[in-house]
Amino acid sequence: MMTSAVGGCHCASFLTTHLYSINMKRNIFITMISLVASLPFTPAFVNAAPGKNTPKRSTLTESLLILRNAWVLDVNKGKFLVGKDVVVRGDKIIKVGKAPRKLDRAKVLDLTGSYIIPGLIDAHVHVTAHRSNNMENTYKHLEYFLRHGITAVRDAGGDGASLLKAQTEIREGRKLGPDVYFSSFMAGDLYYNRGQGLRKEPYSPWEQRLVPGDDLDKAIASAKACGATGVKLYHSFDKDFLPDVVKAAKRHDLKVWGHTMMYPAKPVEVIKAGVQVLSHVSMLETMKTDTLFYRRTTPAAYKDSVIAKLDITEFCREMKAHHAILDATLCVSEKDKWVFPLAKRVHQQGVKIVAGTDQIVDLKRPYPRLVDELDYYIKEAGFTPAEAIRSATIVGAEVLGEEKNRGTIKAGKKADLLVLKNNPLLNIRALEKIEIVIKSGKIVK
Ligand SMILES: [Zn+2]
Repeated sequence: MMTSAVGGCHCASFLTTHLYSINMKRNIFITMISLVASLPFTPAFVNAAPGKNTPKRSTLTESLLILRNAWVLDVNKGKFLVGKDVVVRGDKIIKVGKAPRKLDRAKVLDLTGSYIIPGLIDAHVHVTAHRSNNMENTYKHLEYFLRHGITAVRDAGGDGASLLKAQTEIREGRKLGPDVYFSSFMAGDLYYNRGQGLRKEPYSPWEQRLVPGDDLDKAIASAKACGATGVKLYHSFDKDFLPDVVKAAKRHDLKVWGHTMMYPAKPVEVIKAGVQVLSHVSMLETMKTDTLFYRRTTPAAYKDSVIAKLDITEFCREMKAHHAILDATLCVSEKDKWVFPLAKRVHQQGVKIVAGTDQIVDLKRPYPRLVDELDYYIKEAGFTPAEAIRSATIVGAEVLGEEKNRGTIKAGKKADLLVLKNNPLLNIRALEKIEIVIKSGKIVK
């Protein structure tokens, strides 16, 4: 994916053309409203009869939703709790256990035999074109995510103004989509100018060039003011300047996300600088010394043997010591088969991995790429299905700094829930068919 030191990866620059080519095709997109109307599966709503325990007046205005008698995933333990009720008030889960038989103004769904898991998080998406974005297209992609069970996304680089707009419209209920978290994309001078003075002042709060001597507090404050949750440190940072940028971001309470290789800062230097989430396991390839690796004629078996000999001990040790998370993005590297055993070794060393796809969604696909990403984790990288689900729920929430509010099913957390007919711990492909999607306590599918 990263074929030269300054070649843009699938991120920013790639996007503009790709999104527009998608946009050129006529996508048959069913709006959520018509979708709900035509659903083959109609949830059995039962209005509970008024009971003695009449709720206080203030709670009457908030809808109560009871998901009755389901198998409920304990994300951390990696197993289903049998025959539990999940009680939702407003946008929050208020109880997991046994709900009263009768409750005023409650919608009750009998989910006997069904499975409930938290809404999924894709921790690496790009839903806007980098420049001159098309909002309609962005909304189509976001609706697709939600319709397929992805209730939060981290956008790892794009048009911040459009992302803020989408975030706001969704939050305020005018558009349907996952909760959108996004980054301010930052790179050094080499990335922008490639040493040729091509582009001196590209910059907006969500796309910045940083060089030593810049007022970093000002730069980071503007990133924060544009609504970003974190910075995405992409390229052209060395090991001396990188820690300054990281510290500035942390001073302003922004998350620090970045590439595993920063050209010239190497993976271990990136961790030691304090970057919290490192994207692309494939970039560990840069720790090799072999010079034939990227020759066009180099056989795959030779590459496999080079990667098999790669010493990742220090990288894994530092990742764990710094509580850093690896955003593996196997989907985007699936043609380079050597990434799979590499991801497996990193996982076996106990490094925390988050699920992100870094893929543009083909809206005609029956299920999102995130399902493939998790399937790769299980089939190729030695994850248990429970570990794979964790990587797309609670670990995703940690990446967003939202672990207190999302990612597991318990009282006090946001009611982003998926109802499945089949057990995803037996076959992760159960995620391809989601019966009900609940976002912020509302049934959207
Ligand atoms: Zn990306």
